[in-house]
Amino acid sequence: FDDRDGQIWLNGALIPWRDAKVHVLTHGLHYASAVFEGERVYGGVVFKSREHTERLFRSAELMGMSVPYTVDEIERAKAQTVAAQGFADAYVRPIVWRGSEMMGVSAQVARINVAIAVWQWPSYFDPEQRMKGIRLDVSQWRRPAPDTAPSAAKAAGLYMICTLSKHAAEAKGFADALMLDYRGRVAEATGANIFFVKDGVIHTPTPDCFLDGITRRTVIGLAKARGIEVVERAIMPEELEGMQQCFLTGTAAEVTPVSQIGPYSFEVGEIVRALVADYDGAVRQRMAA
Ligand code: PMP
Repeated sequence: FDDRDGQIWLNGALIPWRDAKVHVLTHGLHYASAVFEGERVYGGVVFKSREHTERLFRSAELMGMSVPYTVDEIERAKAQTVAAQGFADAYVRPIVWRGSEMMGVSAQVARINVAIAVWQWPSYFDPEQRMKGIRLDVSQWRRPAPDTAPSAAKAAGLYMICTLSKHAAEAKGFADALMLDYRGRVAEATGANIFFVKDGVIHTPTPDCFLDGITRRTVIGLAKARGIEVVERAIMPEELEGMQQCFLTGTAAEVTPVSQIGPYSFEVGEIVRALVADYDGAVRQRMAA
């Protein structure tokens, strides 16, 4: 991924992609003092750009890091990087991390760095499988309690169990994993929120120990605009058996139908299909969101 043409914005300026390097004694690498974003560009426009930048700042604040730029400056930097890369449709990855000026758990005076990279990432899941519905394994790892980790932050450290879960699922032939939370409730996938449909009503877990995704909120709005009832509540794994449709939402995943979780099967039904289409309309600005 590091050996390609293009430019990356690093601490205030665009530099060649191959030169955007950090030292091996970077605090963010050793102690996961890093927060990031994932955004998508559609037709040259970053969808919900400011919301993502604001979440980046909130995540940094939850990690005790003060971003040395304003929201407006990061907004301009993102636009500049998107323009420099020149892709109409792309993925945007801003990241904030503590630098290599200090080593040890405490890094009070390590520099807070910011980088923004933009690349083409057409589909998060295999495009052929996507509309047939992907298959999820159930992870052995659980989302931590909000007093165990800053679970509202999009923090690098919280992805340790996501990579473990996704690798374990992939080794068994599944596309992704469903993670339960510390109480044993259904939480989310490793990089996306989860929804279910039962008797025409949408059910989704209350995001009290995982990200309340920007896509999640967009899709809830789109469903309500169609007059579909959306219930946010605690969902236990035993309830999966009675659910009829299931889908994931996320910036990278967009709206992805799920056909199976462990032993339970779901149809790629009318509501899932409608929301896939509505989300596409929203990101392409054919529909309000
Ligand atoms: N949960 C996790 C663990 C994620 O990585 C993501 C992707 N950022 C989401 C949920 C969905 O968030 P969003 O819709 O804001 O991309």
